[in-house]
Amino acid sequence: MHTRLIEDLHLTIILFVAFLAGLFVFPFGVFRLISGDYVVAVADFLIVGVTAAAAAWSWKSGNTDIGGLVISVVCTLGVLVSTFYRGIEGALWIFPLMMFVFFLSPPKAALTLISAAIAAITVREIALPASIVESRIHLFSFLATTLSTSVFCFLAARSTKSHSKQLMGLAANDPLTGLKNRRGLEKELQFAMSAQQEIGSEYGLIIIDIDRFKQTNDDYGHAEGDRILREFAQLLVDSIRMSDHAFRYGGDEFVVLIAATNIAGLRAVCENILTRVRATIRIGDMPVTVSIGAALQGADTDTHSWFQRADKCVYRAKDAGRDSYVIYSADSA
Ligand code: GH3
Ligand code: MG
Repeated sequence: MHTRLIEDLHLTIILFVAFLAGLFVFPFGVFRLISGDYVVAVADFLIVGVTAAAAAWSWKSGNTDIGGLVISVVCTLGVLVSTFYRGIEGALWIFPLMMFVFFLSPPKAALTLISAAIAAITVREIALPASIVESRIHLFSFLATTLSTSVFCFLAARSTKSHSKQLMGLAANDPLTGLKNRRGLEKELQFAMSAQQEIGSEYGLIIIDIDRFKQTNDDYGHAEGDRILREFAQLLVDSIRMSDHAFRYGGDEFVVLIAATNIAGLRAVCENILTRVRATIRIGDMPVTVSIGAALQGADTDTHSWFQRADKCVYRAKDAGRDSYVIYSADSA
C-alpha cells in the first residue's frame, strides 16, 4: 500500500480528498442537519459519500481519471448548493475546490468546471442581488480573485502535466534505440496477464540476446556497437505487428511481446528475426547473429516465472552454438 501511494500521486490526492471530506465536510453536514438546514446537509453527505465511493473505486480499479473527475463534479455541485443556501460562507470554499479540481481532473475539464461554477454564482447574484455578497463591488472582487486564480491554476496544471509526460517518456524509453525499456515491459507484462484472464487470448514472450557483442565492442569500438543496437531495434520494430511490442531490456538484450499467438506463431517470428538479422546487419564483413528464447504465457499467473522460462531458453540457444532459437515446452523443462 505504501509503495502504491508513493508511486501514484493522483491516487494519493484522491484518497486525501476523501479523507478531508470525511474529516471536515461530514461534521458540517451533521451541524446543518441539527440546525434544520436539510438541503445543505444532504449536499454535504453526498460529497462525503460519493467522494469515499470514488476513492474506493479508484483504489480497486487503478483508474484514477474517472474517480478524479467524479469527485471534482460532485464537490463543485456541493460548493454551489452551499453557496446558494449559505451565501459567502459557502462561496469561500471555491478556493480549496479550485486547488484540488485542478489536481484531480485534466486541466481543460477543470477550467470548464470551475468557470461554470463561477458563472453560476455570478448569475445568481445578479438575479438576486445581495443573496451571496454584500454589493456589486464585492461581486467584482469575487470575480477578479476567482478568475485570476483559476487561470493561474490552469497554466500551472498544464505545465505540470506536460513535464510529467516528458518525465514518463524518459523513464519508460531507452534513449539509444527509442524502444520502451524494462519499466515499460513490466507494465505491458502486467497488462498481458490481465488480458489473458479476461479475453482468453494468449501472449508470447521472446527474449533476444546479440551473440558475442562484447567482442564486437572490443574489436570495432563502442560507437559501432551502438549502431548495431540501433539497427537491431529498428529491425525488431519492422518485424512485428502493430499489436506486438518491442523493448530493450538492457545491454544487448531485447524482448518482444507478441499478442494473440501460439507455438506456430512464435516459431514464425523467431525464424523471421534470425533470418533478417543474419541477412541485413553486418559488422565489418561479418553478419551479426542473435540467440533467442521464447515462451507462451501458458498457465503462469506471475510475470516473473513466465520471463524465467523464456530466459532459460536463451541460455539453451547459446549452449546450442548461438544463431538459433529455442521455444519453451513443458517436455523440455
Ligand atoms: P553472448 O553471445 O554470450 O551473449 O556474449 P556477449 O559478448 O554478447 O555477452 P553479453 O551479452 O553478456 O554482453 C553484453 C555486452 O553488451 C556487454 C557490454 O559491453 C555491451 N553493452 C551493453 N550496453 C551497451 C551499449 O549501450 N552500447 C554498446 N556499444 N555496448 C553495450
Ligand atoms: Mg550477448
